Amino acid sequence: MAEAAANLVPSPIAIVDDSRFDAHHDGSGHHPECPERLVAARDGLRAALGDAATCSVTAREAKQDELCRVHTPHYVERLLARLTRGYGNLDPDTYFSPGTREAAWLAAGSVIDMAQLMASSTRQRGVALLRPPGHHAVPTNSMGFCLLNNIALAAAAARAGGLKRVAIVDWDVHHGNGTQDMFYDDPSVLFISLHQFPFYPGTGAAREIGRGAGEGYTANIALPAESGPETYGAAFRELVLPMLRAYAPELILVSAGFDAHQRDPLASMNLDHQTYSAMATSLIDLADELGHGRIGFVLEGGYDLYALSDSVRAVASASRGLRTELPLGKLHDHERAALDQTRHFLAPHWQLPLI
Ligand code: ZN
Repeated sequence: MAEAAANLVPSPIAIVDDSRFDAHHDGSGHHPECPERLVAARDGLRAALGDAATCSVTAREAKQDELCRVHTPHYVERLLARLTRGYGNLDPDTYFSPGTREAAWLAAGSVIDMAQLMASSTRQRGVALLRPPGHHAVPTNSMGFCLLNNIALAAAAARAGGLKRVAIVDWDVHHGNGTQDMFYDDPSVLFISLHQFPFYPGTGAAREIGRGAGEGYTANIALPAESGPETYGAAFRELVLPMLRAYAPELILVSAGFDAHQRDPLASMNLDHQTYSAMATSLIDLADELGHGRIGFVLEGGYDLYALSDSVRAVASASRGLRTELPLGKLHDHERAALDQTRHFLAPHWQLPLI
């Protein structure tokens, strides 16, 4: 993979970040979803962008009607009641602290504003460094460190802002089950997830392709443990990019978790920062090719601090114009079989190249 400098992007990159996200912590200092993650991510962002032009999205809390585009009113009210004070757990994996309510509402509101900014402009790229993460949160519950589904809220806000087709690419190592649930019967949001399988949360088999009017608009690329750059490169060239090209979304959002990195302590994939740079480059190119250039990266998981910093730097550098080619190379038979599974279920809906 060769990295090559390109013309820097002239338009400012929209950045979501706020120190109040750091007030969400479990109190012990031992939970992998910790405030130090954002410290590392900020270091990576700063290393990539330096004094480059950015525009900060002013953090604000999400409103009830915005949250209820993807969550049930009952869940939002129940969550508010639980988060009034102290420390505790919402479910076996998801903790809360005195700062959680404000952090979660600010994260959601900020990413909604980033999506609305994109919906009302062109050539706009964005990077949202936020906590708590969101893609496991389902319409009626918290799950897997996630309280409010930030990226689903962003997609729903873009739709409410007038965009007809939004795509979400989820490269977090875990399946984005919450996001899938929210748009499973909705053809106006194409959801593509690449994840380790079988693995937490247990969903995301290739046969899960959507329902009713949404059939064909959910794509699960369920990859075996130890998959590396070549497998992700092939998945992008053969499946992700052809589907996106055919769908022609007016906005691309990325559930950008970095826990498929080879250093991550929670998962077993073998990516490096260059693969994240390459995947980001390919999606940025596609957004440009589609004529609007709208693409936003929203932080999800990633639990090795060095890997997180390095990978955020790679994606932010790509957003600024540094180009990295998708990795090439031979796949193991079981990795090839995994891609063929997805192709098998989605071929009736999309023109997918045969390999
Ligand atoms: Zn994850």
